[in-house]
Amino acid sequence: MPCEPVLKVLLLGGTREARTLATLLAARGGFQVVSSLAGRVREPRLPEGRVRTGGFGGVDGLTGWLLDNGIDAIVDATHPFAAAITDNAAIAAETARRPIVHLRRPGWTQLPSDRWLRVPALDAAATVVSELGERIFLTIGRQGVGTFARLLEPWFLIRSIDPPTAPLPPRHELLLARGPFTVAAETALLNERRIEALVTKDSGGEQTEAKLTAARTLELPVVMIDRPGLPAGANIVETVAGALAWLRGL
Ligand code: NAP
Repeated sequence: MPCEPVLKVLLLGGTREARTLATLLAARGGFQVVSSLAGRVREPRLPEGRVRTGGFGGVDGLTGWLLDNGIDAIVDATHPFAAAITDNAAIAAETARRPIVHLRRPGWTQLPSDRWLRVPALDAAATVVSELGERIFLTIGRQGVGTFARLLEPWFLIRSIDPPTAPLPPRHELLLARGPFTVAAETALLNERRIEALVTKDSGGEQTEAKLTAARTLELPVVMIDRPGLPAGANIVETVAGALAWLRGL
């Protein structure tokens, strides 16, 4: 009996979408998937199927890895703020002449009653935040918290899955927690800690959206950090279904 052709896929992950796609591909014939994680989280939620962990060693390392492992296609389903791996993957794919798609969930949508202040990057968030209040909820994850270490006056509630390794602002409470979070729990947290403003990345997605609903209800200002750009000419899909359709089209 002739063998069914198999497409070897590198799935760059670390997101819920990547895990969902890995599960869907595992259930179908015709795909051999290797999910890749950076190894930042101590106890990551592992995707189904084969998983490798750790950096590739920049563009050259990733290009070599694609060729050595006979990868036919790449799905970059990393977090919207993981700009380095996204850029590296785009260059490596071009060098190795392999097709790549970037799976990016849409950012959050501002409603008329939202008090959002959009800023282009973390630095800008650190510059404006002390003007918005004295008690700040820093909900940007573990990475980038060090940018706020120079702010001596405000008090920060810092939430992340694992403890940050960078220096922290002197006045803070560290809350280790992993989403999803409910609107009721987020509202209670904002009230209990007497939060006056929030700082978040425009990550998008339902898992961590409740804080925005809570902030809206309490009429709190939110510093919304814009996403880094995608590589020029990038092939982008916004949903897992879109990535699946792209793979099936290859
Ligand atoms: P980054 O700044 O774009 O990447 C830094 C380096 O980490 C990359 O150059 C690469 O090392 C390695 N790396 C990143 N993602 C990788 C992956 N999926 N597989 C193998 N190596 C990877 O990334 P980051 O912002 O540190 O994020 C790291 C991971 O956490 C990503 O997979 C992302 O999906 C996930 N994540 C990030 C955020 C966030 O806010 N940034 C939030 C949630 C989840 P080499 O150059 O050595 O290959």
